[in-house]
Amino acid sequence: MKRYALITGASRGIGRAIAIELAKDGCSILLNYKSNHAAAQEAKCLIEEAGGEAELMPFDVSQPDAINAALDAWFAAHPDDYIDVLVNNAGIVDNELMLWMEPKQWHSIIDINLNGFFYCTRRVIEGMFEKRHGRIVNISSIAGQKGIPGQTGYATAKSALIGATRSLSTEVASRNITVNAIAPGLIETAIINKAKISDIEKKFFDDIPMHRLGKPEEVAYLVSFLCSDRANYISGQVIGINGGAL
Ligand code: NAP
Repeated sequence: MKRYALITGASRGIGRAIAIELAKDGCSILLNYKSNHAAAQEAKCLIEEAGGEAELMPFDVSQPDAINAALDAWFAAHPDDYIDVLVNNAGIVDNELMLWMEPKQWHSIIDINLNGFFYCTRRVIEGMFEKRHGRIVNISSIAGQKGIPGQTGYATAKSALIGATRSLSTEVASRNITVNAIAPGLIETAIINKAKISDIEKKFFDDIPMHRLGKPEEVAYLVSFLCSDRANYISGQVIGINGGAL
């Protein structure tokens, strides 16, 4: 029986690296993304070149109807299968000082970074319950652990993910489902450019004891471990991966 892993936001950056690593571990990948078909197709090719398999599953994680439609179709085509691994990775950064932030901007950050976790997990966890096995990894952020100017909205979503991880892990532990969060520091992806790094944030670079950005693959190795049998007894944890920055 194939082991399916759904990774949200897997067309690029950290999600892509996670998808490749889990495919190397033998998972069959359900590769979610929002709209960048070319990047998603490229990620799929990289997975296949690595000897794995992937199917594209575009939907917007902030739209529950779209999530349910995509997953209903998948479950209908795979009546005997379930999704054993869910990595809630899709996220956006939209930096703005609280003073200037419009409600629309706030809601968009919360919808994608936090509500997406709820919608996807709520839909997938039923199968894990029935099969009495599952792995959920939520990609939080160092911004959910320490204050960073311009990231009040983002930090709200990412710290809420940590609370959700801790509570959910206690609800599902008896079913052999583990729930953990990873809190990356600055990782070398497109999101860093979009964050419009200010002078204050540049100082944050200096605060990284390893004096470098992390690599998406370094996050992916940790996800791979948390989804392996070697991590059976690890649940409800928040693991930082930040070059010693916290
Ligand atoms: P990225 O390179 O910008 O990639 C974002 C991914 O998320 C893309 O696959 C994108 O799909 C997808 N996505 C965006 N909005 C979506 C939506 N509404 N529905 C579905 N998919 C959506 O980002 P990244 O740096 O890899 O970040 C990945 C995660 O790590 C995020 O949760 C981020 O907050 C977190 N994180 C990143 C860093 C960092 O320094 N990079 C640090 C801490 C935490 P399309 O290609 O279709 O747009």
